[in-house]
Amino acid sequence: MKPSFLSAFALLFLVVKPVAQQPALSNMSGDSVLKAVTISELEKRMIQHGLSNVKKHIPDAILDIRYATENNFLRKNVYGDFSSCYLQPDVVKKLKMADSLLKINKPGWKLVLYDCARPISVQKKMWDALEMPASEKGKYVSNPANHSVHNYGAAVDLALADENGNYADMGTEFDFFGELAYPFMESTFVKSGKLTSGQVANRQLLREVMKKAGFSGVPHEWWHFNACSRETAKKRYRAVE
Ligand SMILES: [Zn+2]
Repeated sequence: MKPSFLSAFALLFLVVKPVAQQPALSNMSGDSVLKAVTISELEKRMIQHGLSNVKKHIPDAILDIRYATENNFLRKNVYGDFSSCYLQPDVVKKLKMADSLLKINKPGWKLVLYDCARPISVQKKMWDALEMPASEKGKYVSNPANHSVHNYGAAVDLALADENGNYADMGTEFDFFGELAYPFMESTFVKSGKLTSGQVANRQLLREVMKKAGFSGVPHEWWHFNACSRETAKKRYRAVE
Protein backbone atom coordinates (compact mmCIF):
# COMPACT_ATOMS: atom_id res chain seq x y z
CA MET A 1 0.00 0.00 0.00
CA LYS A 2 2.79 2.34 0.89
CA PRO A 3 4.83 2.00 -2.39
CA SER A 4 1.77 2.47 -4.60
CA PHE A 5 0.79 5.58 -2.61
CA LEU A 6 4.29 6.99 -3.19
CA SER A 7 4.32 6.21 -6.91
CA ALA A 8 0.86 7.72 -7.26
CA PHE A 9 2.15 10.87 -5.52
CA ALA A 10 5.24 10.95 -7.75
CA LEU A 11 3.07 10.53 -10.85
CA LEU A 12 0.80 13.34 -9.72
CA PHE A 13 3.86 15.57 -9.19
CA LEU A 14 5.22 14.75 -12.65
CA VAL A 15 1.88 15.38 -14.31
CA VAL A 16 0.98 18.56 -12.42
CA LYS A 17 4.33 20.32 -12.69
CA PRO A 18 4.51 20.73 -16.49
CA VAL A 19 0.82 21.70 -16.69
CA ALA A 20 1.38 24.42 -14.09
CA GLN A 21 4.26 25.81 -16.17
CA GLN A 22 2.40 25.89 -19.46
CA PRO A 23 0.37 29.09 -19.07
CA ALA A 24 3.47 31.08 -18.09
CA LEU A 25 5.38 29.72 -21.10
CA SER A 26 2.58 30.52 -23.55
CA ASN A 27 2.18 34.05 -22.20
CA MET A 28 5.88 34.78 -22.47
CA SER A 29 6.70 33.31 -25.84
CA GLY A 30 3.58 32.11 -27.67
CA ASP A 31 1.70 35.43 -27.87
CA SER A 32 4.75 37.51 -28.72
CA VAL A 33 5.73 35.08 -31.49
CA LEU A 34 2.16 35.23 -32.84
CA LYS A 35 2.16 39.05 -32.87
CA ALA A 36 5.56 39.18 -34.58
CA VAL A 37 4.19 36.94 -37.33
CA THR A 38 0.76 38.50 -37.85
CA ILE A 39 1.08 42.25 -37.10
CA SER A 40 3.26 44.48 -39.27
CA GLU A 41 5.29 47.40 -37.90
CA LEU A 42 2.87 49.91 -39.46
CA GLU A 43 -0.12 48.16 -37.92
CA LYS A 44 1.56 48.22 -34.48
CA ARG A 45 2.07 51.96 -34.90
CA MET A 46 -1.61 52.46 -35.77
CA ILE A 47 -2.66 50.53 -32.66
CA GLN A 48 -0.21 52.51 -30.48
CA HIS A 49 -1.88 55.71 -31.77
CA GLY A 50 -5.27 54.43 -30.59
CA LEU A 51 -6.65 53.85 -34.10
CA SER A 52 -9.34 51.21 -34.76
CA ASN A 53 -9.34 48.46 -37.37
CA VAL A 54 -12.33 49.26 -39.60
CA LYS A 55 -12.84 45.63 -40.70
CA LYS A 56 -13.67 44.71 -37.09
CA HIS A 57 -16.53 47.22 -37.09
CA ILE A 58 -17.70 46.86 -40.72
CA PRO A 59 -16.90 43.21 -41.51
CA ASP A 60 -18.33 43.15 -45.04
CA ALA A 61 -16.34 46.20 -46.24
CA ILE A 62 -14.01 45.30 -49.14
CA LEU A 63 -10.34 46.07 -48.46
CA ASP A 64 -8.59 47.20 -51.65
CA ILE A 65 -5.63 49.08 -50.16
CA ARG A 66 -4.00 50.12 -53.43
CA TYR A 67 -0.79 51.59 -51.96
CA ALA A 68 -0.06 48.11 -50.56
CA THR A 69 0.08 46.89 -54.18
CA GLU A 70 1.66 48.11 -57.41
CA ASN A 71 -1.81 48.92 -58.77
CA ASN A 72 -1.60 52.66 -58.01
CA PHE A 73 -0.40 55.81 -59.73
CA LEU A 74 3.12 55.35 -58.29
CA ARG A 75 3.30 51.72 -59.54
CA LYS A 76 4.98 50.98 -56.19
CA ASN A 77 3.96 49.27 -52.97
CA VAL A 78 4.64 51.92 -50.32
CA TYR A 79 2.96 50.03 -47.43
CA GLY A 80 5.07 46.86 -47.42
CA ASP A 81 3.20 44.09 -45.59
CA PHE A 82 0.53 46.44 -44.18
CA SER A 83 -2.78 46.28 -46.05
CA SER A 84 -5.45 47.14 -43.47
CA CYS A 85 -7.73 50.12 -42.89
CA TYR A 86 -7.31 51.94 -39.55
CA LEU A 87 -9.12 55.14 -38.52
CA GLN A 88 -9.77 57.16 -35.36
CA PRO A 89 -12.49 55.45 -33.26
CA ASP A 90 -14.95 58.37 -33.69
CA VAL A 91 -14.31 58.35 -37.46
CA VAL A 92 -15.02 54.60 -37.60
CA LYS A 93 -18.38 55.31 -35.91
CA LYS A 94 -19.23 57.81 -38.66
CA LEU A 95 -18.16 55.35 -41.36
CA LYS A 96 -20.32 52.64 -39.79
CA MET A 97 -23.26 55.05 -40.00
CA ALA A 98 -22.48 55.72 -43.69
CA ASP A 99 -22.45 51.94 -44.27
CA SER A 100 -25.85 51.56 -42.55
CA LEU A 101 -27.32 54.40 -44.63
CA LEU A 102 -25.95 52.76 -47.79
CA LYS A 103 -27.59 49.45 -46.89
CA ILE A 104 -30.96 51.16 -46.28
CA ASN A 105 -30.73 52.66 -49.77
CA LYS A 106 -29.17 49.62 -51.50
CA PRO A 107 -29.53 46.40 -49.46
CA GLY A 108 -26.40 44.26 -49.62
CA TRP A 109 -24.14 46.99 -51.01
CA LYS A 110 -20.70 47.42 -49.41
CA LEU A 111 -17.99 50.03 -48.94
CA VAL A 112 -14.74 49.54 -50.87
CA LEU A 113 -11.82 50.95 -48.86
CA TYR A 114 -8.84 52.20 -50.89
CA ASP A 115 -6.88 54.09 -48.22
CA CYS A 116 -7.44 55.10 -44.59
CA ALA A 117 -4.88 56.24 -41.99
CA ARG A 118 -1.58 56.87 -43.78
CA PRO A 119 1.59 57.40 -41.70
CA ILE A 120 3.74 60.48 -42.46
CA SER A 121 6.65 58.13 -43.26
CA VAL A 122 4.54 56.63 -46.08
CA GLN A 123 3.48 60.10 -47.24
CA LYS A 124 7.20 60.96 -47.53
CA LYS A 125 7.84 57.75 -49.51
CA MET A 126 5.05 58.72 -51.92
CA TRP A 127 6.40 62.27 -52.24
CA ASP A 128 9.91 60.98 -52.94
CA ALA A 129 8.65 58.36 -55.42
CA LEU A 130 7.16 61.05 -57.69
CA GLU A 131 9.71 61.79 -60.37
CA MET A 132 8.90 65.43 -61.16
CA PRO A 133 9.74 68.94 -59.87
CA ALA A 134 8.59 69.59 -56.27
CA SER A 135 6.30 72.37 -57.52
CA GLU A 136 4.31 69.76 -59.53
CA LYS A 137 4.16 67.06 -56.83
CA GLY A 138 1.48 68.82 -54.77
CA LYS A 139 -1.07 68.04 -57.54
CA TYR A 140 -0.75 64.31 -56.78
CA VAL A 141 0.27 63.94 -53.09
CA SER A 142 -0.11 66.29 -50.10
CA ASN A 143 3.28 67.67 -49.10
CA PRO A 144 4.36 65.59 -46.06
CA ALA A 145 5.62 68.78 -44.41
CA ASN A 146 2.04 70.10 -44.24
CA HIS A 147 0.49 66.76 -43.26
CA SER A 148 -2.71 65.32 -44.76
CA VAL A 149 -5.94 64.48 -42.90
CA HIS A 150 -5.06 60.86 -43.78
CA ASN A 151 -2.00 61.15 -41.46
CA TYR A 152 -4.37 61.66 -38.50
CA GLY A 153 -6.64 58.73 -39.39
CA ALA A 154 -9.50 61.14 -40.12
CA ALA A 155 -9.78 60.79 -43.93
CA VAL A 156 -10.83 57.83 -46.05
CA ASP A 157 -10.67 57.03 -49.78
CA LEU A 158 -13.53 54.76 -50.80
CA ALA A 159 -16.01 53.56 -53.40
CA LEU A 160 -19.06 51.25 -53.48
CA ALA A 161 -19.71 47.65 -54.50
CA ASP A 162 -23.02 45.86 -55.09
CA GLU A 163 -24.33 42.82 -53.20
CA ASN A 164 -22.17 40.52 -55.36
CA GLY A 165 -19.02 42.52 -54.72
CA ASN A 166 -18.97 44.12 -58.18
CA TYR A 167 -17.59 47.66 -57.97
CA ALA A 168 -20.07 50.41 -58.82
CA ASP A 169 -19.05 52.33 -61.97
CA MET A 170 -17.80 55.73 -60.81
CA GLY A 171 -16.70 56.97 -64.24
CA THR A 172 -12.98 56.86 -63.42
CA GLU A 173 -10.64 54.66 -61.43
CA PHE A 174 -9.50 55.58 -57.91
CA ASP A 175 -6.59 58.07 -58.10
CA PHE A 176 -7.42 59.14 -61.64
CA PHE A 177 -5.77 62.55 -61.84
CA GLY A 178 -7.85 64.59 -64.25
CA GLU A 179 -11.02 66.62 -64.60
CA LEU A 180 -13.22 63.52 -65.06
CA ALA A 181 -12.65 62.76 -61.35
CA TYR A 182 -13.71 66.28 -60.24
CA PRO A 183 -17.12 66.20 -58.50
CA PHE A 184 -17.76 69.88 -59.33
CA MET A 185 -17.51 69.21 -63.10
CA GLU A 186 -19.85 66.21 -63.25
CA SER A 187 -22.86 67.99 -64.78
CA THR A 188 -20.64 69.37 -67.57
CA PHE A 189 -19.35 65.88 -68.37
CA VAL A 190 -22.84 64.34 -68.34
CA LYS A 191 -23.94 67.00 -70.87
CA SER A 192 -20.94 66.28 -73.10
CA GLY A 193 -21.41 62.50 -72.75
CA LYS A 194 -18.04 61.87 -71.04
CA LEU A 195 -19.81 60.63 -67.89
CA THR A 196 -23.15 58.80 -67.80
CA SER A 197 -25.97 59.75 -65.45
CA GLY A 198 -25.59 56.28 -63.87
CA GLN A 199 -21.92 56.91 -63.05
CA VAL A 200 -22.78 60.25 -61.47
CA ALA A 201 -25.70 58.67 -59.57
CA ASN A 202 -23.23 56.19 -58.00
CA ARG A 203 -20.95 59.06 -56.94
CA GLN A 204 -23.95 60.98 -55.58
CA LEU A 205 -25.03 57.97 -53.53
CA LEU A 206 -21.53 57.72 -52.03
CA ARG A 207 -21.51 61.46 -51.27
CA GLU A 208 -25.03 61.37 -49.82
CA VAL A 209 -24.34 58.60 -47.31
CA MET A 210 -20.92 60.04 -46.38
CA LYS A 211 -22.29 63.57 -45.90
CA LYS A 212 -25.24 62.35 -43.80
CA ALA A 213 -22.74 60.47 -41.62
CA GLY A 214 -20.70 63.65 -41.05
CA PHE A 215 -17.97 63.56 -43.73
CA SER A 216 -17.22 66.20 -46.33
CA GLY A 217 -15.90 65.67 -49.84
CA VAL A 218 -13.27 67.58 -51.82
CA PRO A 219 -13.56 69.23 -55.25
CA HIS A 220 -10.95 67.16 -57.14
CA GLU A 221 -11.39 63.53 -55.98
CA TRP A 222 -14.76 61.72 -55.90
CA TRP A 223 -13.25 59.04 -53.58
CA HIS A 224 -11.80 61.26 -50.79
CA PHE A 225 -13.74 62.22 -47.64
CA ASN A 226 -12.63 64.08 -44.51
CA ALA A 227 -14.22 63.60 -41.09
CA CYS A 228 -12.95 67.08 -40.13
CA SER A 229 -10.65 69.83 -41.45
CA ARG A 230 -6.85 69.50 -41.28
CA GLU A 231 -6.77 72.23 -38.60
CA THR A 232 -9.29 70.38 -36.43
CA ALA A 233 -7.46 67.07 -36.99
CA LYS A 234 -4.21 68.71 -35.79
CA LYS A 235 -5.90 69.87 -32.60
CA ARG A 236 -7.92 66.72 -31.94
CA TYR A 237 -5.54 63.88 -32.90
CA ARG A 238 -1.88 62.89 -33.06
CA ALA A 239 -0.47 62.21 -36.55
CA VAL A 240 0.88 58.70 -37.17
CA GLU A 241 4.62 59.02 -37.80
ZN1 LIG B 1 -7.56 60.60 -49.84
